[in-house]
Amino acid sequence: MRHGRRSGFCWVPWILSAVLLLTTSFTYDWGHASQILLAYERSELRSARSEIDQNHVKLGELQQAIIQLSAKLAEETKNAKELQRQLSKLQAAKVYDPPAGRGVIFYQGNASSKEVAITIDDAFVPSLVKKALGILVANHAAATFFPVGRMIAADPEIFRQAVKDGVQLGNHTYDHDWLTQLAPSQITAQIDGWQEAIDKALGYHYDTQWFRPPGMAGFTSQKLDAEYGSIVGKYGLNVALWDVDTYTGIYKSQGLNVAPSIVADYVLSHAGPGSVVLMHFDAPDIAALPAIIQGLKAEGLKPVTLSQLYDYAPPK
Ligand SMILES: [Zn+2]
Repeated sequence: MRHGRRSGFCWVPWILSAVLLLTTSFTYDWGHASQILLAYERSELRSARSEIDQNHVKLGELQQAIIQLSAKLAEETKNAKELQRQLSKLQAAKVYDPPAGRGVIFYQGNASSKEVAITIDDAFVPSLVKKALGILVANHAAATFFPVGRMIAADPEIFRQAVKDGVQLGNHTYDHDWLTQLAPSQITAQIDGWQEAIDKALGYHYDTQWFRPPGMAGFTSQKLDAEYGSIVGKYGLNVALWDVDTYTGIYKSQGLNVAPSIVADYVLSHAGPGSVVLMHFDAPDIAALPAIIQGLKAEGLKPVTLSQLYDYAPPK
C-alpha cells in the first residue's frame, strides 16, 4: 500500500493553469500599465513642448525688450555725456573771471584807429629774429613777437634785445603744443614755462598781456571756448588772434618758396585800419617785412604793438 497518494488526482495541470493565469494577468496588467505610462509621458512631453514653445516666444520678447532697452541706455548715456559736457563748460565759464580789460579774444582793432599790429610767431630760426629786429629798428616800426618759450631759453640775448628795441612779447607756450591735446595741468605748465623762460632771460618779471594759442587750437571760431578761455583768463591774459594771416593766405597753398613781393602784396591788400597781421619767422615773411611796413605807412597806417592797438581810444 502506498501512503499519501490519492489515486486519479494530479496537481500538475492545476499548477500550470494557475501559473498561466497569473502570467497572462500580469502580462495584461503590465502592458496596460505601460500604455498608461506612455500616454502620460506623451502628454507630459506635449505640455513640455508647449511650455518650450511659450518660453521661446517669451525669450523672443525679452530679447526684443533688451534691444530696445540697450538703445534707450545708449541714448540716455549720450544725453548724460552731453549734459556733463555742458555743465563742465558752464562751470569753466563761471570761473572765467579775469581782471578788467583782460581775458578777451582780440583779433581786430578799431577800424578808425589808423593802426595795424604786426605779430610774428614761433622764432624757430634765431637768425630771422635778429633780421626782423634790424628791419623794425631801421623802419621805426613797432611789432609784437610770440616766440615759444624753449626758443627764449635757448637764445635769451635776442629777446633781451627785442624788448630793448620796443618789441612787445606774448606768451606762445613753452613747447608749441596744441592746447586741445593737453590736460588743463599741462596747459598751465606750458604757460608757466614760457613765463619762466622770459623772466629768466630778462632778469625781471615780464608782465605780458597776450597769449596766442599755437595753431589757434581751442579758439578756432574766434569765440571764447570756456574750457581753454578759463585757463588763459585766470592768468589775466588776452587771447591774441588775427584777421590777416600769411600762412593760411599764401604758404598753405603755395609753400614757402614764394617771392617776398607776393607776401607783401597779400598783406597790403588784406590789412586795413585795426588789422592784426599774423606772420612767422619764416624767410619770405621776414624778407617781405620792409615792404609791408613801408606800404602800410604809405596808406597812412602805423605799425604798432598789440597793446597799442587794443588800447586805442578814438579822438573825442
Ligand atoms: Zn606758432
